[in-house]
Amino acid sequence: MFPQVIEEHNIDTINLAIQNAEQIVITCHVSPDGDAIGSSLALMEVLKSLGKNVVVITPDQVPISLQFLPNVSEIKSHSCDKHLCDSIFAISDLIFCLDFNALSRVDKMSKVLQESSAMKVLIDHHLDPENFASIIISQPQISSTCLLLLFVLYQLNLFEHINQEAAEGIYAGMMTDTGNFTYNSEDPYIYIAIAELIKKGIRKEFIYKKLYNTNSEERLKLCGYALGNKMTIYPEHHAALIYLTKQELEQYNYQKGDTEGLVNIPLSIPGVVYSAFLREDEEYIKVSMRSTGDFPVNLLCENYFNGGGHKNAAGGEYMGSITEAVHLFISLLKENDKYFN
Ligand code: 5GP
Ligand code: MN
Repeated sequence: MFPQVIEEHNIDTINLAIQNAEQIVITCHVSPDGDAIGSSLALMEVLKSLGKNVVVITPDQVPISLQFLPNVSEIKSHSCDKHLCDSIFAISDLIFCLDFNALSRVDKMSKVLQESSAMKVLIDHHLDPENFASIIISQPQISSTCLLLLFVLYQLNLFEHINQEAAEGIYAGMMTDTGNFTYNSEDPYIYIAIAELIKKGIRKEFIYKKLYNTNSEERLKLCGYALGNKMTIYPEHHAALIYLTKQELEQYNYQKGDTEGLVNIPLSIPGVVYSAFLREDEEYIKVSMRSTGDFPVNLLCENYFNGGGHKNAAGGEYMGSITEAVHLFISLLKENDKYFN
């Protein structure tokens, strides 16, 4: 039914590790998205069904927009309960690292993760994984970690253990990492997977409504302000930029997640090939970029904004002022013209 993308010897090792594990931890990247939380919850459910002790530990809190997912309340966040999380790490003998490729992506949890003697299994779809796990299942051509996890579970012979709740996690991640199946979504196995998840009872429309059609009044007004007053289009460079200062965010009572998706909107303008969104956060300027076609925003984020990601969706953290970040982006427009020649 699904492709056998994972080497058999890795499958055998993981099976054995699960069998022998006394305490399993599942973790994912900071500022977790639907793919990170969806895959973590799905794997948690499957391991629980095998009678395993398993805890999902995230570096920071789950955004409100994802709190509708089944069993999300069982997640422990390191930023809220460092002591408890560190003690769970200390007794864990198997750690699954989902949806990230570098230790720095777990933020303040990187030390405890690195120093843990537990066996680490990385399941991820970002390019160039760092070598911090015993088993590295890295498949950048797969659109989401959730879909990759489904393939892994299938190969582990655990497909039958995916219940409705786990299936909803998997679906949420597949959906959010492809913009509701609008990009990175040509792989026919995505639709075979959806069919199978529907058979497992996922509430497809409910998940769509929760993830794509739920807004607070303030979020809508903030987005309206950003598009109306803070969006610049550079038609000759096929680029768009939106930036928001801390003061502007405060004015609209900004809550985490309120600017989600904003960076995609300028791409709907014919001729705009890449789009950047800069947000003045507490400790740095959060950078988000999106593109269509061959324009590699991951390289832009990697080279200039201390980040990385995928060719069409990337981000970073710029250390400096919002004005400097804006100037840097504008100063790169000319150089980026090389991608259009
Ligand atoms: P977003 O714009 O939604 O925050 O992030 C889009 C993608 O860019 C993420 O899935 C992730 O792959 C990547 N990304 C975002 N922020 C960072 C960052 O600070 N560092 C790195 N290496 N990648 C990031
Ligand atoms: Mn992902």
